Amino acid sequence: MLTRKDVSHEIAGEIRAADGGSVAVLLLRLRRYRQEHILFDNFLNETVTERVKQSLRPEDRVFEIGENRFALLLPGVRGSNHAQLAANRLVRSFVEPINNGVQQVQVMPTIGIAVYPDHGDTGEQLLDGAESAFEQASLSNDRYALAQINGRRRSISYDALRDAIQQNRLEVNFQPIWNMRTNRLFGAESLARWSHPEFGEVNPTEFVLLAEQTGLITGFTRWSLNGTLRHCASALARNPDLHFAINLSPRVFHDPGVVEQINGAAQIWEVPSDRIVLEVTESAVMEDAEISARVLHRLREIGFGIAIDDFGIGYSTYSYLKRFPATELKIDQSFVRDLAVDPRSANLVRSMVELGHSLMMRVVAEGVETPELAKLLGDMGCDLAQGYWFGAPVTAEVFIKGLPDSSG
Ligand code: C2E
Ligand code: CA
Ligand code: CA
Repeated sequence: MLTRKDVSHEIAGEIRAADGGSVAVLLLRLRRYRQEHILFDNFLNETVTERVKQSLRPEDRVFEIGENRFALLLPGVRGSNHAQLAANRLVRSFVEPINNGVQQVQVMPTIGIAVYPDHGDTGEQLLDGAESAFEQASLSNDRYALAQINGRRRSISYDALRDAIQQNRLEVNFQPIWNMRTNRLFGAESLARWSHPEFGEVNPTEFVLLAEQTGLITGFTRWSLNGTLRHCASALARNPDLHFAINLSPRVFHDPGVVEQINGAAQIWEVPSDRIVLEVTESAVMEDAEISARVLHRLREIGFGIAIDDFGIGYSTYSYLKRFPATELKIDQSFVRDLAVDPRSANLVRSMVELGHSLMMRVVAEGVETPELAKLLGDMGCDLAQGYWFGAPVTAEVFIKGLPDSSG
C-alpha cells in the first residue's frame, strides 16, 4: 500500500517521462452497494483489482492507497476528455455485479480526475485536484468528476452548450454508409457538429458527454432528431431507398414519453420508421439494461431499426444480445483498424460478423480508412461499411446535393 507521498513521487516520475505529453491521475474508491455487513473478502478484492486493470491499457499503472482505494496513473492521454472516457470505462466495468459464490455483489466506483498539465505541474497539485474532484463526485450523483481549473472549467461550459442547443447553432453532418453487398450507397449516419465562436470546433464526444452529465441531453436529443429528420425528408425525396442512422443516448430513455417523441418527430417529417436506425452504444445500454430493453422493444415495434454501436469494447456479457431487439451490430473502429496488421483481430472481426449474422443482424464496420480494409471486410461477409475510405462526414446539405436525383 502506498502513501500519499509515494504516489506523488510516482506522478512526478510519469510527468518527466511524458516529456510534454499529458498524464492523468485518477483516484478511485469502490464501495459495496447496500450490503454493509459483508466485508470485502480476498476473492472480491482480487476480482475488483482485476476489473480495474482490465478496463485500463497495459501502460497504465495501478497503486493501492487504502482499503478499496486506488490511485491510477494514465500516461499519454489526449487531454481531460480522454481521461474522462477512461473513467467512464472504469465505471462501466462495474455495471455487472460480482458473484462471490454466495451472492451477487454490486460494487459502486467513485472517481476524481486530474490531468497534467491542465490541473497542475507537480504530484502534489495533481493529487489535490484529483481529491477535490473526488469529493465533488461523492457529493453529487456522478460517478466521476474532473478537477477544476482555478475553480472554473476551462473547456466548454454548460451555458455555452445550452445556448447552442436552444439557438439551434449545432449542425447535422452526414457520413455515408456503403452497402458492400450491392456496392451502392446504403445511407448515412447523422453526426452532430458544434463550431463555437471562441473555442472553435468542439469535439462531439466532449459535448455529448457534457450533455449527458447535465440535464441537456433531453434538449440535445430533440434537436438531433428534428435536425436529422428534416434533412432525411429531403434526401428521401431524391432517393427513397436510403437509410439514416441517428445516435441516441440511453440517458433519455428515462424521459416520460420518449418513444412518442421519437415517433412523433418521424411522423412530422413524414419519414417512415423503417428508414431510420437508432444507434445506442453497447456500454450505455448496459448501464441501465432493463429500461433500455423496454424502450428499445417499443421503438422496434414501431418499425425503427436498432443498432448496437461500438460493439466489442464494452465488458459486457453476450447474453444481453438476446434481450435487445437489435437489427444491426456496429463493430467498433478499434477492431477494424487493427484488422490488416494483426491476424488475431481478423479472427475477432470474422467471429463478430458471424455472431451478428447468427442473430439475424446486419453487420456494419466502422472506421474503414483504406480500400484494403474494405476488401477484407467484404470478403468476411460484412454487410455495410463506413469510414473515410467511403467518405468523411459532410454537412447534410452537401450530402444531399451529391445524391443523384432518382425522382425523375
Ligand atoms: P460514433 O457514433 O461511434 O461515430 C463515429 C465516429 O467515427 C465519428 O466521430 C466519425 O466522424 C468518426 N469516423 C468515421 N469514419 C472514420 C474513419 O474512417 N476513421 C476515423 N478515425 N474516424 C472515423 P465524431 O463525429 O467525432 O463523433 C464522436 C462520437 O460522438 C460519436 O461516435 C457519437 O458517440 C457521438 N455523437 C456524435 N453525434 C451525436 C449525436 O447527434 N447524438 C449522440 N447521442 N451522440 C453523437
Ligand atoms: Ca454511432
Ligand atoms: Ca461507433
